Amino acid sequence: MRKVAVEAVDSFVSAADVFRPLSAALGTERVAVNYYELAPGDSFGFCYHRHHEQEEVFYVQSGTATFETESGLATVDAGELVRFAPGEFQRGTNRGPERVVALALGAPRVEDERVDLRRDCPECGERTGAKLAREDEVIVAECADCGAETGRFTR
Ligand SMILES: [Zn+2]
Repeated sequence: MRKVAVEAVDSFVSAADVFRPLSAALGTERVAVNYYELAPGDSFGFCYHRHHEQEEVFYVQSGTATFETESGLATVDAGELVRFAPGEFQRGTNRGPERVVALALGAPRVEDERVDLRRDCPECGERTGAKLAREDEVIVAECADCGAETGRFTR
């Protein structure tokens, strides 16, 4: 058994105000566990994306998360959960006025999993493939087609 306090795990740079990856602290082997707090406008991930092997479940503890999905927008309120199958594109964002507190579970836990990333590129005028690069404590998103910077994230 291993017990962990969420507050005891460091937050890392992400698209969310608070992102605490709990898997390593808990020593999980088959499931990825991540804690998020989203300020208004924040997202769970840097990109609209899909995993090829991993299914993901989000439990919203407070606030309302809005997920962009292949079938349109889906709002997930406090006390609700949403599940995405492997291969389903999605990105959850806080479009409301309150903070979103949520827990994300992904299984199987895969190191270096192949993930399809998409972001809107103003240069290309459409949603294109995206690449992420880390520069110290900054994550930079670039268009995979034209190389334009489409996002910059700091702690
Ligand atoms: Zn582009």
